[in-house]
Amino acid sequence: MEFESQIYMDHAASTPCEGRVVEAMLPYLTQCPGNPSNRNHRFGWQAAQAVERAREQVGAMLGADAGTIVFTSGSTESNNLAIKGSASALGKPIGEARRGHIITSATEHKAVLDPCQSLSREGFDVTFLEPGADGVIKAEMVKNELRHDTILVSVMWANNETGVINEALEIGEVCREACVSFHTDATQWAGKMRVDLRTDPVVLLSLSGHKIYGPKGVGALYIRDCVQTRDLRCQNEGGGQERGFRAGTLNVAGIVGLGEACEICQNVMEDEAPKLEALRDRLEKGLSAKLDGVHVNGADARRLPHTSSLSFDHTDGEALMMVATDIACSAASACSSMAITPSHVLTAMGVPEDLALATLRLSLGRSTTAADVDYAIEHIATAVKNLRALAPMLGLA
Ligand SMILES: *Cc1c(COP(=O)(O)O)cnc(C)c1O
Repeated sequence: MEFESQIYMDHAASTPCEGRVVEAMLPYLTQCPGNPSNRNHRFGWQAAQAVERAREQVGAMLGADAGTIVFTSGSTESNNLAIKGSASALGKPIGEARRGHIITSATEHKAVLDPCQSLSREGFDVTFLEPGADGVIKAEMVKNELRHDTILVSVMWANNETGVINEALEIGEVCREACVSFHTDATQWAGKMRVDLRTDPVVLLSLSGHKIYGPKGVGALYIRDCVQTRDLRCQNEGGGQERGFRAGTLNVAGIVGLGEACEICQNVMEDEAPKLEALRDRLEKGLSAKLDGVHVNGADARRLPHTSSLSFDHTDGEALMMVATDIACSAASACSSMAITPSHVLTAMGVPEDLALATLRLSLGRSTTAADVDYAIEHIATAVKNLRALAPMLGLA
């Protein structure tokens, strides 16, 4: 297969699988067909052992015991399990007028917003916290909304569009004091930044393999050991795997890959983060030096080292991506039923609609070089200038 020779700057959407990860997975796709739930023969035992080793690796990266890790198909499923599972276990039964209160934020990924919205239709009260212009969800905001019937707070650790870091630990602390369960979608954080669940006040944490140089279709939900199935109801019933939290035959090769990816992340994150931050700063400074009217979304907040959300006056994100063909990135917009709508994250931060629609998300990764960044600066700056020259004609002025 031929792949485009584009420079890949969309690591917040997905990352390439590390070679070492693929190597670790291969035997479990070919030589070992065992089902880890079937320990009647050596193949089953080997598969089970591989899964338990991966559980240790994921746990080690999070500072958690292996027994707290439940494997899922990715962060979407982990978020659904955490949110719907908590609501159905801790909320009042169907039919009650007020089933319980959930706090989340307006800047969450759809994999949190959508389950929260469906719970709201099913009789739960859901508060969607709005950030200020910096994009940060603060502990004070959560504290102000807590009620006697609040059953769950779900706030992402860091945002996938802007890289803005929320006050996750402080929010966890507020929840701990109030005895309310705290879930965090850490898909963009875990594996890149330090997590230590020995001390971090988090009850439920979602992560995904393909955002951290592992395979797609596998992830995990950390479930603090005090949480039982009576506090978090399984959302897909069947074989009772994963301590009753998640039924279904385990994706052995995927899980082995996730474990390996976590071990690598744990070993490299300390060196990788500053390197990526320097490259991101080079990118932002380079573009701002070459162009007027560049806005770094979330610039006033603490941000992830690898993600940059940039709005360019008098342009359009979708059009920019078509002109800047050498760079693979994302426009911060959603395409729903043919209409292009501005990003809900930028809108929640108060970015005006025309500017929100003129946004690119560039996210760097392990293989990004300074030369890639310099090329991207030249290429995008030229694309912006060309598009701006046409702006009056395109109605972007
Ligand atoms: C990618 C992403 C998800 C979805 O993860 P999948 O493993 O692809 O289901 C959820 N939340 C955030 C913040 C993400 O970046």
